[in-house]
Amino acid sequence: MLTLKFGGTSMGSARRILDSTDIMVGRAKTDRISVVVSAVAGVSNKLQAAIDGCVAGGVSASYVSELRSIHQDICAQIKSTLADFDTQAVMAKIEENLSELDRLLTGISSFGECPSGVHCRIMGMGELMCAPIVEAVLLAKKQSVILLDSRKFIYTTGDQKEGDPDYSHCADAFADYRDGSAPMAQILLFPGFICSWISGTGAKPVMGLLGRNGSDFSAAIVGSCLGASRVEFWTDVDGIYTADPRIIKDAVLVKDMSYEEAMELSFFGSKVLHPKTLAPLAAKNIEAWSLNSHNPASRGTRIARGPFVDEKSGPVRGISCLKDCAMISVTGAGMKGRKGMASRIFSAVSNAGISVLLITQSSSEYTVSFCIRKAYAQKVQDILKAEFALEISTKLLNPIEVYDNLAIVSIIGDAMKQKRGVAGTFFDSLASRDINIKAIAQGSSERSISAVIKAEDGDMAVRVVHQFFFNTVQSIQVYAFGAGTIGGTMLDQINEQHDALLEQGIDVRVMAIANIDGMIFNADGIELDGWRDKVKADGKKTNLDEILEFVKETKPLNPIFVDCTASYDLPERYIDILKAGMNIATPNKRANSMSMDFYHKLRQTANEMHVRFLYETNVGAGLPIIDTLQNLFKSGDKLTGFNGIMSGSLSYIFGKLDEGKKFSEAVLEAKELRYTEPDPRDDLKGTDVARKALIIAREAGMEIELEDIEMRSIFPEGFSLEGTTEEFLKKLPELDSYFAEKMAALKKENKVLRMGASIKDGKVSVGMLEVGPEDPLFGVRGGENAFVFHTARYTPIPLTVRGYGAGAGVTAAGVFGDILRTVSWNVSSF
Ligand code: ADP
Ligand code: MG
Repeated sequence: MLTLKFGGTSMGSARRILDSTDIMVGRAKTDRISVVVSAVAGVSNKLQAAIDGCVAGGVSASYVSELRSIHQDICAQIKSTLADFDTQAVMAKIEENLSELDRLLTGISSFGECPSGVHCRIMGMGELMCAPIVEAVLLAKKQSVILLDSRKFIYTTGDQKEGDPDYSHCADAFADYRDGSAPMAQILLFPGFICSWISGTGAKPVMGLLGRNGSDFSAAIVGSCLGASRVEFWTDVDGIYTADPRIIKDAVLVKDMSYEEAMELSFFGSKVLHPKTLAPLAAKNIEAWSLNSHNPASRGTRIARGPFVDEKSGPVRGISCLKDCAMISVTGAGMKGRKGMASRIFSAVSNAGISVLLITQSSSEYTVSFCIRKAYAQKVQDILKAEFALEISTKLLNPIEVYDNLAIVSIIGDAMKQKRGVAGTFFDSLASRDINIKAIAQGSSERSISAVIKAEDGDMAVRVVHQFFFNTVQSIQVYAFGAGTIGGTMLDQINEQHDALLEQGIDVRVMAIANIDGMIFNADGIELDGWRDKVKADGKKTNLDEILEFVKETKPLNPIFVDCTASYDLPERYIDILKAGMNIATPNKRANSMSMDFYHKLRQTANEMHVRFLYETNVGAGLPIIDTLQNLFKSGDKLTGFNGIMSGSLSYIFGKLDEGKKFSEAVLEAKELRYTEPDPRDDLKGTDVARKALIIAREAGMEIELEDIEMRSIFPEGFSLEGTTEEFLKKLPELDSYFAEKMAALKKENKVLRMGASIKDGKVSVGMLEVGPEDPLFGVRGGENAFVFHTARYTPIPLTVRGYGAGAGVTAAGVFGDILRTVSWNVSSF
């Protein structure tokens, strides 16, 4: 005998049900099987919503008709591929349930409450409606099948909604099927989740439930009571992974797991199996398998008597996160040295039928803290207030404290206790993302270590812990705004480098691209081949808020917003972007040249959010300027002076003057080579140079605004800069003699003319510089940039950086470099 359990994910549609029944038929060829089925996916939630809605005074009709059509549709679709499917017989059974549902919901609506018994009847209907569908499919496939009512086999006590099975009672109920004296079929079919509950000795059994996700537990009870050789849990993933594959895309499939590991994993929140499922199987050494009904060919995960040593996977086998937790702390001088305090606390809680998830005690003995499900927080607080009323009133104990909205992240593995440093790595990984740990606990078997954190940090915690232990690919999610010359080149570079980076363990995924054609966005990443056409074809209106919402909700580890626009307004939203938890990389100088207030606010916000604001390409494009300066100043160096040629066009124009070219010729040549802006005045006025100088000055710690920079015009007094570009270009030759005279005078001193920025004595200026052969700027021409930093350490010879400071290729590469800077943390070697 084999037992198979099919969850909601395997009952999600006509197709799924047909596929799942194929699996049953396959197994039934060689073995007798018992099958447990859940409700159709989503139905349990709808039933819960119906209860909640009617408690709040809603009317039952719409809920009932929605549930009717879900099942009707599935039946109709099955019928269309399986002619022998008896829709009428099935719908008759479903209608019986629906009319009872209607009655119960109407009652709830008028009473305004839903007693436990009614709750159980309603919630169990999902399974009671799904099982007949499966039965009819199997019959249509000519199988020998009997649909049995689980309520006549599984008996529980304790909590009606989440009972504990009375195994000897269950074993008796199954006896005739175990020994074959009952009328048998090749397939025994049971609806999951439901059972009969006995409130106390002598009480009449009424309908009860096995708790959320209880069908897993049903299958374990059925398998155990029928003496199955194994129980298969069919779901929608290939088995049990090192973490929830819905959160961790590169979670690793675990081949074999011990019962204990799987129990801890489910206890601490992994949804893959109901927490109580494994105990009855472990007791009888019945193997459990986690299998994928959407991919039946995959091997799956075997859960059996361990330990399983797998050198490759290391000591940690799984990471889980239990959300919706609360922590209760009992503190006070009265805790110290008093016998029995802990036992009074935990007896009181357990007498109320509430299970404690985790306990921590501080070494000072002044505090006992423990976690429970958030839903019980109020109740537990009340219980403890009553239990310790005397101690609290005499101030031996402080008022009972409750911390809400917490999560427990746990790492699990049989071999953890033999390996040193596991806990250290666990806490380091959380610290690397500044996740605040409220409490720590180690399972008594040393098979699990848990940290209590804020619920909102839960998913992020699982990601970062997974990264540290499984040394998996580090991903960066790029949201690229502005995909023109620089942004477009950068996307092409990312596309070209993608595979090579992946080999080094870095997965750069472009999630959104926005340019003048609109925005495309894909939650799984955009395939970059042909991205330009994709934006043209599928671009929707660019919407930054949609991106911010997505990032806030999904909390990826490394999201980065890349602003390659020349936008004047977008930088104003950088604060919002940082606050959403995104890094920013940009060649756009606007943000750094706004007010000093904004400048500080950006950095402060980035610090608070533990993200980075990166702008290496603001100055000198691909040249290593910003990072170099930051490292210098961080290590205590001081800027004493600076000279720089920071514009390719000005470098070119003034270099040409050395060769005896006329000024007007030099400008026109530069324009023709597209070294200048379309209107060369934009370069010649020096405003762009001023912005770069401002950024360098601020980097050096100066508090300075753009208006504070002294602008020494290169134009002679009285020369008008008004008029169109054409008019300006025509007037240019008027300047030739002015520059020729200057050059002639300088030649005598063996000097040349350069245009750039200087920082000296706390002042920043932009204008012409007369430099001699000893000056590093002397030989800088032809479009080259040069940055000459005099610092306390770099003296008397200054630190000089030279090279091309513009161009799409080098600038894009500089931005790409910034993007890659976000993955610098240390990943351990477990
Ligand atoms: P079913 O309806 O079949 O019972 P569930 O949705 O209850 O399916 O459980 C399957 C889901 O459990 C998977 O889709 C997966 O997202 C989640 N899950 C959580 N943790 C893990 C894990 N460690 N390994 C595999 N799946 C996990
Ligand atoms: Mg489940």
